[in-house]
Amino acid sequence: MGMKRIAIVGGGISGLAAATIVERARREGAAVEFTLFERGSRLGGVMITDHVDGCLVEAGPDSFLTEKSWGLDFCRSLGLGDQIIGSNDNERKTYILVNGRLVSIPDGLMFMVPTKLLPTITSPLFSWSTKIRMGLEYFHAPKLCTNGDESVAQLVERHYGREMVQRLADPLLAGVYGGDAESLSAAAVLPRFVDMEKRYGSLSRGMLAARKKMAAMMREKHGANHQSAPRPLFSSLKAGMQQLVDAVADFLPRESMQLNREVTAILYDGTQWRLVTAAGVEVFEGLIIATPAQLAGRLISGVAPPLANELLDVSYSSSVTVTGVYDRADLRNLPPGFGFLVPRNEGKRMLACTFVHNKFPHRAPEDRGIIRTFLGGLRDASVLAQSDEEILAIVRRELKEIVGLEAEPRAERVYRWNRSMAQYGPGHMARVRHIQSASNQLHSFALAGNAYEGIGVPDCIASGTVAAADVVEQLGLPRPQVAAKGEEKAFTRPTGVSR
Ligand SMILES: Cc1cc2nc3c(=O)[nH]c(=O)nc-3n(C[C@H](O)[C@H](O)[C@H](O)COP(=O)(O)OP(=O)(O)OC[C@H]3O[C@@H](n4cnc5c(N)ncnc54)[C@H](O)[C@@H]3O)c2cc1C
Repeated sequence: MGMKRIAIVGGGISGLAAATIVERARREGAAVEFTLFERGSRLGGVMITDHVDGCLVEAGPDSFLTEKSWGLDFCRSLGLGDQIIGSNDNERKTYILVNGRLVSIPDGLMFMVPTKLLPTITSPLFSWSTKIRMGLEYFHAPKLCTNGDESVAQLVERHYGREMVQRLADPLLAGVYGGDAESLSAAAVLPRFVDMEKRYGSLSRGMLAARKKMAAMMREKHGANHQSAPRPLFSSLKAGMQQLVDAVADFLPRESMQLNREVTAILYDGTQWRLVTAAGVEVFEGLIIATPAQLAGRLISGVAPPLANELLDVSYSSSVTVTGVYDRADLRNLPPGFGFLVPRNEGKRMLACTFVHNKFPHRAPEDRGIIRTFLGGLRDASVLAQSDEEILAIVRRELKEIVGLEAEPRAERVYRWNRSMAQYGPGHMARVRHIQSASNQLHSFALAGNAYEGIGVPDCIASGTVAAADVVEQLGLPRPQVAAKGEEKAFTRPTGVSR
């Protein structure tokens, strides 16, 4: 059997994870190799770490959820085990802006489900009517019939009322997806909640039962007296997310990586894939497209029009991250904690703000602090068209209004993310099933990226890994050993903006 060649389009973390699997199979003796095409001049896609005034600044993702084990496993498989750092969870406190004042999210609130009575009852975050609803929610009966998918706002409102949507669900989701609770699918974004509603009716009861089960599992595994130290909510790397990209780049053969090489068209004759770039046409037996879905749709439109249409229909939101480096002394009036979220009805442009120096070690020297803000999202895409000066002026004004920060930053950076965050609208999971079955019609073909089964870095690693294993297997080679995609289902929690 001759050497099988796989083309990977896109050098973000999804494409890099796919390349890693193919490369491992090659090293283990499989007759397979790959070429990765990246249109930009660097690998990593939205994962970029900058160095600004002695500080480590993340332009895109700053961390990933520890609970989603694909992230840590991938880092360890690349020899980065001793480089992993956790968020400073003993300082974890997140605030919500309510009527112009920062109110901390009460202890025991899991996403928006209360699991501790006292902190919830005494919290000024919610009105009494919401608190009463939270109490009554405990007695909800299981939901017997389902009318298909609904929005997160509908699900949350049914359990806890409108105020919970506005004060918590919406700002939390704006921070993760750049989206809002009305336009995100409950089944795609909160699958565990949908499941709990069916089984228990009450999300509070479902959450408590899940925690009990987890504690029993831990006791069984580690013995009755075992007190395991809680794992940090977020993980990152000492030298930033770029360290992961660099480790993958070191692992992959240089000659397989084609930078500054945009794939402009893809042809398929039933057995072979032809990829068109400015350098000519190259032929492959297998293909993985790991670009945002809309770009994948455009590339595949001549080969599989119905699949292309589904891909073109996935919408994306745009965002801007702004980082300011300050003298630490100028930040002494900042409240302790990781940062704050801003509900839409507070009339601000800022969606979220992270006090980076509190959230992670190894980010700023003792005498500096880093403030990262997040703007844009589905409702405010126009911010991308504003100049850096205008954006910086908005951020400075709002930081002054919200936390009284008047000091000049030592340095500032603005990063624009045009259509980078996939939006999982109602019906998303059905679309993913259509996309999957249309992809299966094409031989030795798979899609990877943040548009399908999770937007976070670990989800993207999972999607690239499984895509590569599928394509290697479809080429008639032994399937590389990888975990199945659905093996872990963490709660969707904000992937890093503030909590
Ligand atoms: C601002 C921001 C903050 C985030 N924060 C977090 C966080 O804290 N935690 C977390 O878990 N997740 C976070 N995410 C989400 C996560 O980072 C992304 O979902 C993930 O990195 C996407 O990786 P990807 O490889 O699928 O796509 P991308 O990183 O978009 O990579 C796609 C690549 O394909 C290339 N490409 C496109 N078209 C072509 C073509 N025709 N030919 C060749 N190459 C092409 C592009 O140049 C790009 O490099 C964040 C995302 C953003 C934008």
